[in-house]
Amino acid sequence: MGGCDHAVHVPTSSPAAMRDPAADPQRQQHSLADWLALHELDPATCRHVLDAIGHDFASAPAGHEGAQSGYQALDLEVAWLRTVEAMRDFLPERHGIIEDTFAKTEKIVVDLPGRSRKAVTLDNGPDAYPMILLSYRQEPAEHLIMAHEFGHALQLRASQGRLVPPIMREVCAFLGESALVSHARQRNHPQHACLARAWRKDSRRYFGVQSDRLRAALATPAAPYTYSWNYPVARYLAIRISERCSRDRIWSIFAGRTSVQDALQELA
Ligand SMILES: [Zn+2]
Repeated sequence: MGGCDHAVHVPTSSPAAMRDPAADPQRQQHSLADWLALHELDPATCRHVLDAIGHDFASAPAGHEGAQSGYQALDLEVAWLRTVEAMRDFLPERHGIIEDTFAKTEKIVVDLPGRSRKAVTLDNGPDAYPMILLSYRQEPAEHLIMAHEFGHALQLRASQGRLVPPIMREVCAFLGESALVSHARQRNHPQHACLARAWRKDSRRYFGVQSDRLRAALATPAAPYTYSWNYPVARYLAIRISERCSRDRIWSIFAGRTSVQDALQELA
């Protein structure tokens, strides 16, 4: 199974200062300097995060990436219900907005045989509900992607149009994924082992090749922006935040009231 490109964001109406240049060819290509400025980051702080990733996660066991034996596949509806239940377990005081977001977000399954799996959450603005498009062939990695996209959808509803820079958007999506894995563990679901394996496999990519690419780019202020720079920092923050932060603090992240710097300072 190949990887999944699960974050093709199209901020159709958000006031984001940075957009995907491919979606707006009239705009100038953004650079590393723009990305750092948007997040109020500097290269030294980013390197510090990458060093922490290398220290904490470089020795993660390789596991058995190809083995999915024993996975009890969930049909689409059950997978969605588990996703919402996991988020409710993770943020029980926010069950109202979680259920509202689930009920009113349009969810469209796209199946493109032979194509790499993709998913996207479309931002329809603060007065509307987002739309999730995803492929689903009952694989554990796709269930994680579903939880990822629901994390994006919940963040869009919670932040009510505030500008949320991409690292913090991805933190919310990764918190959605980790909520699903934790929920499966706590409920002794037979899917837990395979979900956890798929999570670790993704983490190796974020903390391996994608961290290396970001580190290389940090030496070049004019380096053209690539969305994948957001993932290593966001994955690291999401793991640490889920371990250490209160539920109120976590909700302030979904609501767009916590910057990357705030999160780093809280975790220091
Ligand atoms: Zn994403």
